[in-house]
Amino acid sequence: MKPLILTVDRWNPDPSAIKRAASVLADGGLVAFPTETVYGLGADALLGEAVAKIFAAKGRPADNPLIVHVVSPEDVDRIAFVDERAARLMKLFWPGPLTLVLVAKEGVPSITRAGLSTVAVRMPSHPVALALIEEARCPVAAPSANRSGRPSPTNAQTVVDDLNGAVDVVIDAGPTDVGVESTVVDATGPTLVLLRPGGLPVEELIAVEDVVLPQGEEIKRRSPGTRHRHYAPSVPLVLWGEDDRAWREILSQNTAVGYVGIRKPPVAVAVEVRFGSIEGYARGLFSALRYLEKRHVDIIVADWPEEKGLGLALRDRLRRASAMEEDDLPLP
Ligand code: AMP
Ligand code: MG
Repeated sequence: MKPLILTVDRWNPDPSAIKRAASVLADGGLVAFPTETVYGLGADALLGEAVAKIFAAKGRPADNPLIVHVVSPEDVDRIAFVDERAARLMKLFWPGPLTLVLVAKEGVPSITRAGLSTVAVRMPSHPVALALIEEARCPVAAPSANRSGRPSPTNAQTVVDDLNGAVDVVIDAGPTDVGVESTVVDATGPTLVLLRPGGLPVEELIAVEDVVLPQGEEIKRRSPGTRHRHYAPSVPLVLWGEDDRAWREILSQNTAVGYVGIRKPPVAVAVEVRFGSIEGYARGLFSALRYLEKRHVDIIVADWPEEKGLGLALRDRLRRASAMEEDDLPLP
């Protein structure tokens, strides 16, 4: 069955469209909707059966817990324990692309938490997301609205391409602003732990709180989402770091190269997508990957950004998009 597509004004979404989508959530259905980061695939977070449909629609591994979206910091009290530090972070950074992992309260189904005792929560800033969650009167579990492993959707058409038949409603409010998913921090221990760099630059968090940045096996153990191959286009992706090693290898073969990044590539390529800033690169990366694969290039070369600000999130997504196997994470 094709999804019902509701096109709305992103600043002033039509209340009757929002009501319709909210009633689908209340009935245990799936609604894809825009957030400021990427499009999410939403279900009532407190209805285990509805949440199970998210995992099935995405083909998402059951060990990867979902982010629960709320409409206000007070809304979190229903699902998690909020200490003074968490309340402060919510006040400083919400609504926005910061997800906090907190100790879950009873009533959050195990499937939403992937069996953990904690739950991830976020208040998005997108007016359509807020209107939907408010109208639905329930916390909304929503991972990115793509098939698991594929680049995240930053527009409604991509959601339809990936999930046609598996989603009841798609709310289309145009392309998303940030383009990469939220920054995830574990706020259950004495020091905040960065589980995933994302749309909120980690420097902004470090300015107000100590943050531990775990590496390698430690990050895999603490952050289930990092254990799986992710964000990958259907053609191989290689990273262009400081030297031109990536290019030398490619030039020795006769391949059609697609390029995505900020710097000008050192050689002529078949198709290039260039951005003027790191914000533009973050906003456009996922759609550029899908665009380049549609242009039938043999290989994609991606600019490897500096390790600061949104560059951290881009490096994380690019590193994982370039991995051919789960444990093979080559760096430029
Ligand atoms: P996604 O919804 O696909 O953008 O991914 C959600 C991210 O949040 C993944 O990296 C998850 O591993 C992470 N996450 C969600 N809930 C938890 C949790 N309770 N503990 C640790 N990480 C979590
Ligand atoms: Mg995702």
